[in-house]
Amino acid sequence: MTRERSGGSEVRNVAAEKKEMDRVSSFFGKYTFNKTVMQDKLPRSVYLRLMSCIDEDVKLDIETANVVAHAMKEWALDNGATHFAHWFQPMTGSTAEKHDAFIEFVGPNEVIERFTGSQLVQGEPDASSFPSGGIRATFEARGYTAWDMSSPALLRKNGLGITLCIPSAFISYTGEALDKKTPLLRSGRAVSKSSIRLLKLTGNTTSKKVIANLGPEQEYFLLDRSYYTKRQDIVLSGRTLIGAAPAKGQELEDQYFGSIRERIQSFMHNFDEELFKLGIPAKTRHNEVAPGQFEIAPIFEEANLAVDHNQLLMDTMKKVARRHGFFAILHEKPFAGINGSGKHLNWSIGTDDGINLLNPGTTPNENLQFLLFLVAVIKAVHRHSDILRATVANSGNDHRLGANEAPPAIISVFLGDQLVSILDSIEKGENLKATDAAIIDLGLSSLAVVSKDNTDRNRTSPFAFTGNKFEFRAVGSSQSISFPASVLNLIVAEAIDELADKMEKAGTSDLRKSIFDIIREEIKTFKPVVFGGDNYSEEWHREAERRGLPNLRTTPEALKSYNTDKAKKLFEKYKVLSPVELTSRYHIHLEKYSKQLDIEANAMYNIVSSQVLPAGYRHQKNLASSVREISGLVKDEIVKPQRELLNKVSDLVSGIQNNLASLKLAIESARLIEDEQERAESYCNKVRVVMADLRKGCDELELVVDDELWPLPKYWEMLFLY
Ligand code: ADP
Ligand code: MG
Repeated sequence: MTRERSGGSEVRNVAAEKKEMDRVSSFFGKYTFNKTVMQDKLPRSVYLRLMSCIDEDVKLDIETANVVAHAMKEWALDNGATHFAHWFQPMTGSTAEKHDAFIEFVGPNEVIERFTGSQLVQGEPDASSFPSGGIRATFEARGYTAWDMSSPALLRKNGLGITLCIPSAFISYTGEALDKKTPLLRSGRAVSKSSIRLLKLTGNTTSKKVIANLGPEQEYFLLDRSYYTKRQDIVLSGRTLIGAAPAKGQELEDQYFGSIRERIQSFMHNFDEELFKLGIPAKTRHNEVAPGQFEIAPIFEEANLAVDHNQLLMDTMKKVARRHGFFAILHEKPFAGINGSGKHLNWSIGTDDGINLLNPGTTPNENLQFLLFLVAVIKAVHRHSDILRATVANSGNDHRLGANEAPPAIISVFLGDQLVSILDSIEKGENLKATDAAIIDLGLSSLAVVSKDNTDRNRTSPFAFTGNKFEFRAVGSSQSISFPASVLNLIVAEAIDELADKMEKAGTSDLRKSIFDIIREEIKTFKPVVFGGDNYSEEWHREAERRGLPNLRTTPEALKSYNTDKAKKLFEKYKVLSPVELTSRYHIHLEKYSKQLDIEANAMYNIVSSQVLPAGYRHQKNLASSVREISGLVKDEIVKPQRELLNKVSDLVSGIQNNLASLKLAIESARLIEDEQERAESYCNKVRVVMADLRKGCDELELVVDDELWPLPKYWEMLFLY
């Protein structure tokens, strides 16, 4: 028998089966109930009413909702839909939908398709099985979904079925947010309100609304399905739990931006095509650093839309990958020893009349406004780096943050030399009597080129200013970007408000002086969080400790940041989450962490018991009979190395057996712990440690056991054969 290596052989070139893609502009967004469709299908007055409700963020009246629902249904039916669903984002981190057929009886055996305004606006899923972190136990057993008008309804084609999906929030009957969309919408309002307040103080009279924008760069791996189906660990936990390092990894740096293999590009082609139909502006695609790793980045969009689109993108990726004989891995650390996957979250805020508040601008006035908002962001990150850290905490990201491939768990801000020197001179008071000319002397005029000059872009920083936006680089590849974005909006809203308070006190008669005075004061406080050096270095870890920056290394540690008075007050003040809602998130994430580690540990236990050890025993037996059979027939020194190998294999097998027993005990004792925090810590500090020991033995065994006997696809196969 030869070991089957089918990776790459099963090229199902789906794209080749059909004609090339049509001109993208001709079908972009064709599955969305977008403005063009609405203008076409809705009476003008209804369309205008709907738009103003969206713009002013007010409730839609039922008459308008009825007309919109009818038009939406007709459009959906014309496009082959049979069902509708409120599509929402529960705390699981993925999306949820329950389909209802449009049919309604009009007589015995006679149906028509109907869809009413109230069905559009509100849905009532029997959703008692979603995680609520205790909210629904104490309040009401059910939640309902509410249409989010700001994200367009869309058609989702899945196999043969087509469903009209209505992006929705998910709320308990007592009004608690049970989902990821609600806090995002609330935080958007908060940052808009405080930004407009500050803008008014700086003399802006035209902007009415401020919008957060997001551009998530998504990394992922593709694995040939023939390997996937043989790896229980990837199927159940999303990552490999054992696997010896291959002789070649990513050291040659020959994958990054390399030429894309044909089979991969066919996948990307269909993937992009599906995204375009959904109105998702997929822009960039390329090979990433690790073998088998890739990236897709869309053009940035309004936060709410960008979050919905990233969820759709992850879902679409998995489906299209399957069609092409791949499995798409979104886990943060699927393979030990090579880079994991993250999601760089590009974030900025801008006004409804087109001013990017993080754009340095070209006039002294724009420069000042930019500096104020820049300072607000740094101030916010400095004060709440613990909360920001918690938003990217999950079991997968624990393997990545701080592992010399991703930023450390210490949150710092990279600004670039030019901005640092401008802030320095402001701090030193060199601008005290600044006139326009003096601003120029100080180099403020060169702010305009900051955006172009910021090319250095320290890749090791978790939170970097990149020209006209910040890039939050600690986000995990599998997670929803919603909460990291919500927290950014929230903490910045608070910082902006505090700057506005100070501006009001200082008065705006000498705007420039007031602003510089305020900034100077702020710098003193937030300075420790600004760091431009190598975030991967040991030196930085020591330096960060001296500076008093938190270093929350693991998920259980990081999640505690949701439980502080500081966090509760902040979320409550801006009505983003009540203390109950926030605490529920702490519980949900902590529980999820323990459950995930429990799944990993048990999958590992099963793989080692039923696959690894039997292979070890068989190899041991083969060696033993070989030794026995040749002993006495050949010279002793020829038998000796084989006997040594037999001893080595036997030692490894025995070590694995011992560690396997310890793993069982560690799992059992973690499971018995009542307190959620302690349980999570036990999984983190005990179960994980035993898993690492066990893995070591298995990986060593893999390297000596007869390749024909090894039951699992190996790293070199999974990473290079596709
Ligand atoms: P890179 O960081 O690799 O140079 P880009 O700067 O082109 O790449 O953008 C990376 C991501 O940031 C893209 O999704 C892009 O649309 C997004 N982006 C660009 N400008 C902004 C902005 N002002 N606000 C939010 N996201 C942005
Ligand atoms: Mg980038």
